[in-house]
Amino acid sequence: MRLLLVEDDERVAAALVAVLGRHGFQVRHARSGHEALDALVPDGNEPYRVVLLDLGLPDRDGFEVCSRIRAHSAVPVIMVTARADVRSRIHGLNLGADDYVTKPYDMGELLARIHAVARRGLAAAPASESGERPAQPGSLESRGISIDRERRRVSVDGRDVPLTRKEFDLLALLAQSPGVVYRREQIFSEVWRSGWEGNGRTLEVHVGSLRNKLGLPGLVEAVRGVGYRLIPEQPAGTDATAPEPGR
Ligand code: CA
Repeated sequence: MRLLLVEDDERVAAALVAVLGRHGFQVRHARSGHEALDALVPDGNEPYRVVLLDLGLPDRDGFEVCSRIRAHSAVPVIMVTARADVRSRIHGLNLGADDYVTKPYDMGELLARIHAVARRGLAAAPASESGERPAQPGSLESRGISIDRERRRVSVDGRDVPLTRKEFDLLALLAQSPGVVYRREQIFSEVWRSGWEGNGRTLEVHVGSLRNKLGLPGLVEAVRGVGYRLIPEQPAGTDATAPEPGR
């Protein structure tokens, strides 16, 4: 798995390259924002699965580098920084970073986060960027819903339904295992990259808008005190929005 490490501190970089190498990563080390953006220009090699982006770079701000990456690439980005304040985190996530890790970090945790974003990135990456991608994992083709994970598009009965990034991620997550209850904590950790405490309302709002946009009020079921699950089959006679063609 190729990984782009953007870090100007040689000691930090050398330690990371060594550890990541031992864990099977093929690491390219960029020492500046400029070098990082250069490295991401497609060159026929296997694309990077993850970018580890230090925010304090000599030539330009890591936030700017992140938004430039996002302008043309969906590669998962993990910001790594000593700036632990909440505003920096929110700013980074708003710019499209997939995760945010503060220094000093635990190496085991960093590796776990890298694997997590790489898995999600793989599920969302266009097939042309990854020859080894399994075909449409967990794609839901029942109840008239079709989820195109490559293009991040959802349609109901052939009609495109525009979803926000979080709505799509939420639906895509639940659709990985239809019928299985996803805990709120798990949903928050996967979709919002944060704990759900105090955020319950956010989840409710997103579930509500997802139901409305898809026109399938019964699709996402709340399991009280636990979380949510996707009901793959239409319960008999309960979903007025998609009646069976009765005789
Ligand atoms: Ca730095």
